Amino acid sequence: MKRTLIKHVLESDQIGGRVKVAGWVRTRRDSKGGFSFLELNDGSSFAGVQIVVPGEIENYESEILNVTIGSAVAVTGELVESPGSGQRVEIHAGNVHVYGYADPDDYPLQKKQIGFERLRELAHLRPRTNTFGAMARVRNALAYATHRFYQERDFLYLHTPMITASDAEGAGEMFQVTTLDVGAPPRVDDAVDYSQDFFGRPTFLTVSGQLEAEAYALALDRVYTFGPTFRAENSNTRRHLAEFWMIEPEVAFADLSDNADLAEAYVRYLFQYILDHCSTDLEFFNKWVDDGLLARLDSIASADFRRITYTDAVEVLSKAEVAFDYPVDWGVDLQSEHERYLTEVAFEQPLIVTDYPSDIKAFYMRRNDDGKTVAAMDVLVPGVGEIVGGSQREERHDVLYESIVAKGLPVDDYWWYLDLRRFGSVPHAGFGLGFGRIVQFATGMQNIRDAIPFPRTPNSAEF
Ligand code: ATP
Ligand code: MN
Repeated sequence: MKRTLIKHVLESDQIGGRVKVAGWVRTRRDSKGGFSFLELNDGSSFAGVQIVVPGEIENYESEILNVTIGSAVAVTGELVESPGSGQRVEIHAGNVHVYGYADPDDYPLQKKQIGFERLRELAHLRPRTNTFGAMARVRNALAYATHRFYQERDFLYLHTPMITASDAEGAGEMFQVTTLDVGAPPRVDDAVDYSQDFFGRPTFLTVSGQLEAEAYALALDRVYTFGPTFRAENSNTRRHLAEFWMIEPEVAFADLSDNADLAEAYVRYLFQYILDHCSTDLEFFNKWVDDGLLARLDSIASADFRRITYTDAVEVLSKAEVAFDYPVDWGVDLQSEHERYLTEVAFEQPLIVTDYPSDIKAFYMRRNDDGKTVAAMDVLVPGVGEIVGGSQREERHDVLYESIVAKGLPVDDYWWYLDLRRFGSVPHAGFGLGFGRIVQFATGMQNIRDAIPFPRTPNSAEF
C-alpha cells in the first residue's frame, strides 16, 4: 500500500478508509485495557498522528512493547474520528512493522526539554525534536519564498563560483583552498610556490558572489544568487557563522533607492509568506521561544520600513541616553549595539540606513557627490540588527579605479571587474541578505547556530 504523509492524513476526510503512514515514535502509552497509543511523527507537519495499537495484533508483545521513543515504524490501519480532545483523527492499526528500535538506555532524546547547547552536540538527532523540525520547515519555506519572489519579478537565478582567486571585497577573513601538502609545500626562495597549486595561484572560498553577479546583471538585467558563502572571521557571536547562505540580487539600471525598495519588498514578502504557510510552526516558536514573535513578523510584513542616512543615525545615537561599549562619532562603523538601539529603541521598527562614510565601506560602492560618503545601505531589524547589506555600485571606471587604489587593493586582480565599466557600463545596485539571519529572525531563535542544520563555527565542524 502507498504511504501517506502524516500532514495529509491529519487533513484527510476519508474517515473509515485505510491508510499507511511511517515515521518515528514520539511517545508510547500502554493502556490497562491491553492496547497502546503511539504518537508518530514524520516531519511533514508539526503535529504527529495518534495510533491506537490493539493488543490482538500478532507482534504486540514481541515487538510493539519494545517500541520506544525514537523507534521507526510503519503502520497500516483505519482512519477514524478521534474520541480524544487532542486530535481530530487517529489511526486504528491493523498492522505495525518495526523498522528500527532506539534503545532507551542510549537514545539521547528522552527528556522533554533539552537545552539548545546540548542539542548542538546532537546535531544529527536534533531534527527529531519539535524545535528543529519546525526550524527546518520554516527555513525551507523561506528558501521557496525567496525563489518565488525573484522568479515572479523576472530575476534570473545565477550560480556564482565558490572557489575564487581574489578577496572580493575584504568582507572577512577567507578560507584557503589548496591541494598542496600543507606540511611541506613546494617553495621558491622562501615563499610557497603556488604555481604548483591546483589552480596555479592561491585560491579561497568565496565571501560573496556579488562581483560575478554584476557581470551577469550587466547583460541579463536582473539576477540573484542563493548559495553558500564562507568567512573565517573568528567572531564567536550569536549571529555569525563561518559558512552561511546568502541571497544576492543584482539589478542593472537601478539606483540606491530602487535597491532599498527591493530589499524592503523582499523581506516583507518572506515574512508574509511564512505567516501564511507556516502558522503551526510559528505558533510553536511564539509559545516556547519568543512570545513577541508573531506580533513582530506581522508588523514587519505590514508596515513601511523607515529610511535614514548614516549621518542622521549618528546624530540620534549621540543623543541617546545609554552608555554604549563603543562610542559613536561620525566616521565609525555602527556596532551591533548601535544598530539594535536604532531599530529597537529609537524607532521601534525596521530601518534602512543609507549613505555611510566611504572609509568604512567596500571599494565598489558608488561615491556620493559630497566626496565623503558612498551609496551604501544596511537593513536593520529588531532582535538581530543587520540582515541586509548593499549598495549602488560604482559604475564610473575612473572613480572605481581610484578607490581600488585608495583602498590599497591589487588593482591588476580587478581587470575584469574594471572591464565591466569600460564596455557598456550602467548604474546598477544590489545587496546581500544573510539567510541564517532571516531564519533566526523568523523563528525567534537566539543563536544563529540553531537556525541552520549543521552550523560551522570556530572549533566546530564535527557533523
Ligand atoms: P556584520 O557586520 O553583521 O558582520 P557584514 O557587514 O560583514 O555583517 P555583509 O558583508 O554586508 O555583512 O554581508 C551581507 C549579509 O550577510 C549581512 O547583512 C548578514 O545578513 C550576512 N552575514 C554576514 N556575515 C555573516 C556571518 N558570518 N554569518 C551569518 N551571516 C552573515
Ligand atoms: Mn562581518
